[in-house]
Amino acid sequence: MTLNKAKSRDIIDSSILKLSKMDSGHPEIFISIQGEGIFAGTPCVFVRLAACNLSCTWCDTKYTWDWKNFEYTDHVITLDHNSIYTIIEEYKQKHVVITGGEPLLQQEALMPLITSLSKNNYVIEIETNGTIDPVKPLLKMVNQWNISPKLNNSGNPKDKHCELEILTKYKSHPNAYLKFVIVERQDITEAIKIAESAGFPANRLILMPEGTKGPDLIDKSGWLSDYCTKNGLRYSSRLHVLLWQGVRGK
Ligand code: SF4
Repeated sequence: MTLNKAKSRDIIDSSILKLSKMDSGHPEIFISIQGEGIFAGTPCVFVRLAACNLSCTWCDTKYTWDWKNFEYTDHVITLDHNSIYTIIEEYKQKHVVITGGEPLLQQEALMPLITSLSKNNYVIEIETNGTIDPVKPLLKMVNQWNISPKLNNSGNPKDKHCELEILTKYKSHPNAYLKFVIVERQDITEAIKIAESAGFPANRLILMPEGTKGPDLIDKSGWLSDYCTKNGLRYSSRLHVLLWQGVRGK
């Protein structure tokens, strides 16, 4: 199957959700600490959805979308929203992070789950690449938007990795933050330009070093955190990488 055909299949609307499947056969729903962004350090339940519309070269969750190198049926499981809610509830932790892949590919199917979580006073974060227009009810119900627009360093086609018009829609949400993955110093200028063009204030811009192993991350952390300190910008580490070296399900 070609990648494009697989992606077309992924974005077909459905009343059930496609989640990442662990080697154990269970859906990738787990408790951990948030490793990135303004809630870094907070204990959360993570729900990892399958499929993505981009293909970043440094992506650390390629098993959610790269059907050239990962077998779809080994890595995707379907579940209805009630089953997902039940699993989340068992963790007894009222903070949920919906991540991926790209969760908004399944935003219609996500609505019942988000509605249940919202009604039951969960804090809900969604991590998105910012290329898919969020439907209004979802935009309102989600407490925290972690939007990670991609830069040239991601290796995606230039006309696909960043959608300014869509990013602009998030700027009025008080808890929408732009978080950029920085590989080289030159990426910083590109990130700031995008944030300014989308009308985001500097205090809702986060710069985060790329790295899926502790040493890579630490190499970039020094110069990037220095830059943030000198320029009054937020810096984010990737605590899960430092703690668990990118082990899946942690
Ligand atoms: S947008 Fe996120 S999930 Fe999709 S390829 Fe890029 S890093 Fe991976």
